[in-house]
Amino acid sequence: MSMDNPSKATQHTKTCRIILFPLPFQGHINPMIQLADILHSKGFKISIIHTQFNSPDPSKYPHFMFHLIPDGVPEDQASKHDILRVLHILNTDCVPLFSECLGKLLSAHDDIACIITDAMIYSSQAVAEDLGIPRIALRTSSVCSFLTFAALPVLREKGFYSDNLDSRWEEPVVELPPLKVKDVLGIHIRNLDDTLKIVNDMVEGTKKASGLIFNTFQDLEEPNIANLHEHFRLPTFLIGPFHKFFSAASSSLLTQDRSSIYWLDTQKTSSVLYVSFGSLAAMDEKDLIEVAWGLANSMQPFLWVVRPGLVQGSEWLESLPDEFLEVTGKRGYIVKWAPQQEVLSHPAVGGFWTHSGWNSILESICEGVPMICSSFFGDQTVNSRYINDVWRLGIKLECGFEREEIESAIRKIMLEGEGRQDIIERLVCLKEKIDGFSSTSVNSLSDFISTFKSSVV
Ligand code: UDP
Repeated sequence: MSMDNPSKATQHTKTCRIILFPLPFQGHINPMIQLADILHSKGFKISIIHTQFNSPDPSKYPHFMFHLIPDGVPEDQASKHDILRVLHILNTDCVPLFSECLGKLLSAHDDIACIITDAMIYSSQAVAEDLGIPRIALRTSSVCSFLTFAALPVLREKGFYSDNLDSRWEEPVVELPPLKVKDVLGIHIRNLDDTLKIVNDMVEGTKKASGLIFNTFQDLEEPNIANLHEHFRLPTFLIGPFHKFFSAASSSLLTQDRSSIYWLDTQKTSSVLYVSFGSLAAMDEKDLIEVAWGLANSMQPFLWVVRPGLVQGSEWLESLPDEFLEVTGKRGYIVKWAPQQEVLSHPAVGGFWTHSGWNSILESICEGVPMICSSFFGDQTVNSRYINDVWRLGIKLECGFEREEIESAIRKIMLEGEGRQDIIERLVCLKEKIDGFSSTSVNSLSDFISTFKSSVV
């Protein structure tokens, strides 16, 4: 998408520098690097502070400056998936190192306008205040999930987490329509108290920021925008989907297996279900086997990303029954990691069974691909509910991983029929709105940043 027609203020501040600090997980690195590219294309100079853990590859971005801080996160398999632990280290042990690095940059450059840090690195707010530099928070997920996170302390006060709610699992949460009790209770990762504290600190840190950026777009989130402005009275910019400007392929931490594209080339138009649960989700062997039999029984061709680490305690495919591989034969293709954006734009792909990660949802919407939604934790439970009940762009699996429900959802999404057709029509409508997206909101962000450094020309 072209980024022409820059406003006067944007031209005026061509030499400003912005410092960005991404959260070192795939679904957070991708949008931060894309945002860096968007801002660079508007004339800003970019410096990226990054951790050793899941480090981006600086050689891919000669137009940015990179500054490594030692983070103390062990580069082992456990850390790769232990989000709470990494978040804790980044917001505690890492803070002095981030502060030192930022302090040095501020001394070395007099053109720094602001820092943009992931909303989940909430401790960067206090560092920014100490050093007297404005901080803009980047929230890499949906507005609807952000507002749900913001409401969790109130739900907790109402006894939401202490009462035995198992019997009310399917009931609506009256405070947060259209969510069900199970959607809210499914948000936490392992430890409830730790999750709620981190989420709350993230929300409070965001309130103190000088600005807030979302990787989302107005037409999709309309029902929640007024609510957002009412509760978060800070300048807010909805400038997504970022990947429409710059692809996420360059920031992939794992090697994308291009054989998946060659396999798709051999398949019929809209015939293949693409299945991927993102970079962090983990499941047990029992669930993997339900997924496998759901795919096999649906009789539809599929491209399945089984990331090493997807199944706890297993290397890769050893938990899959031989019979599954025999039955599906050439109808299925399994890879460890795929070039997802390219896969979704391939004519052979007719549906996407996703874990409801926000980048995956945006990528699917932009390619007009109907979704089947699972969810594992965090924003995924909220995103999948919105896909099913509000935006009606796909089907949420309500029973977790259960082969009959999976088979039925795959048939509904993949086979021609009213359900699929209605979803495709809604996707076409949304896609038109995204394609018509002007660079107005990016220009407003650009102008906003320029006000921090109006003396720099
Ligand atoms: N992705 C990819 N190859 C894959 C699966 C995912 O390149 O095989 C990319 C995908 O395009 C997206 C990101 O990884 O940009 C995953 O982000 P998301 O928010 O969907 O989920 P997360 O990994 O954070 O749970």
